[in-house]
Amino acid sequence: MISYFPAIYPDELVYSWFCRYYVHSGFFSSKSAMQELYCKRSDNPSKEFIGNLNPGAVEQIAKMYPLDKLVLEHTMYPQYARFISLEQKKTALYRLGHDNCDAHHLFCVLPRSEGEHYLRFCPLCVNEDRETCGETYWHRKHQIRNMGICTKHRCRLVESSVPAKSEQGFVFCPAEHYTGCDKVVFEEDPQMIQFANYLESVFDAPMDFENDTPISSVLYHGMCQTKYLKPSGRSRYTKQLTDDLNGFYRDMGLYTIASMYQIQRVLLGSRSDFSVVCQVAFFLGMMPEELTSPTLTPEQVQQEQDSHYMKDTAPVDWVQLDTDTAPILEAVIRGVYDGTASESGRPERVSERLVYREMGLLGHQLENMPMCQAIFERYTESYPENWARKIIWAYQRLRAQGKPFYWSDIRKLSGVKKKNFQSIIPYLVNHTDDNMVNQIIALVATDT
Ligand SMILES: [Zn+2]
Repeated sequence: MISYFPAIYPDELVYSWFCRYYVHSGFFSSKSAMQELYCKRSDNPSKEFIGNLNPGAVEQIAKMYPLDKLVLEHTMYPQYARFISLEQKKTALYRLGHDNCDAHHLFCVLPRSEGEHYLRFCPLCVNEDRETCGETYWHRKHQIRNMGICTKHRCRLVESSVPAKSEQGFVFCPAEHYTGCDKVVFEEDPQMIQFANYLESVFDAPMDFENDTPISSVLYHGMCQTKYLKPSGRSRYTKQLTDDLNGFYRDMGLYTIASMYQIQRVLLGSRSDFSVVCQVAFFLGMMPEELTSPTLTPEQVQQEQDSHYMKDTAPVDWVQLDTDTAPILEAVIRGVYDGTASESGRPERVSERLVYREMGLLGHQLENMPMCQAIFERYTESYPENWARKIIWAYQRLRAQGKPFYWSDIRKLSGVKKKNFQSIIPYLVNHTDDNMVNQIIALVATDT
């Protein structure tokens, strides 16, 4: 029975609040605190969101704070959901608070770069928290992607040893125990300070639950009058924009600079990643309000929608398009194939449908693009072959954790069913050594 919940601090992550609950309630272990809160251990506990709480915990928590408020003010929702469509935004708010949904099903969670793998803290906020609250806690704003400094103290954030990903050995790690007394490094670069303030303003702005202006339209109009949009408004110079943007941010030392592929997807409206949108908008000199409460007219939105060159009725220069698209496509496909494109890291099968969707192509257009077609064919594989790669990936990942594991663990991670195993065996040898193949076969054989 849940007895006591401390009050949640401003901008505190729900995860951090639960960590303090664990400490204050005197639980013997993090595991027993988790059992009090969550449904089962195999559920999706979360560091950036709330996780699958059991009915008792939900009841207690809802008495203190409405769940919508918790999602809005104490999870990373304002980052991930900021630029998705209105409908998705509403669904995500509901499902994160009431439906215990895994966030990965609701919006895109980009892979993390160097500097973003662990929860971050500001050494000066730690001191301040201890003075005012008697303890420190995990702040949301320090976890925003590409946030390198504390905007309040203008010093660099420090990485703790607590993984930011939820699924990696989930335990409660209270900030109080994981924030050492580090040397304070003040940020000197005025542009970096400005960029951090920009991210904060966009993150902090009230979520818009009325307007449904696509972020691709907002950026399109931010590009008007720049050299990145043809005066006719018909084509975007994405390569030029990417090159200039990369030069601009390289000196600032961001964790992740948006790739051409990511920028293209945002401009074409198939994605709306917070980090990519903010980088483009800040680079173009747009105000945070232009992103968070856009004032475009329906005509302006239509103008952008009409501008997608893939949908143009004008003849397409296929050779040029093929040449421009090939390097982007290669990066997309490789990321999907080897798993680096997703936070889970699981290698996926590259399908034609995926290529069309990701690149914003229309029916049969790939046939006009021999370079792109060749890249796609190079990565094409059968389902059994893809299953084999998924199993090997899961096996390696479980082995790296150093604990005993079984076929059921591999099945859960890889999503591959045992009934398909016979068709998979011949492909295992193509992707790993005999020793591992035998170990995998042995695990399947001993599964009951
Ligand atoms: Zn600070």
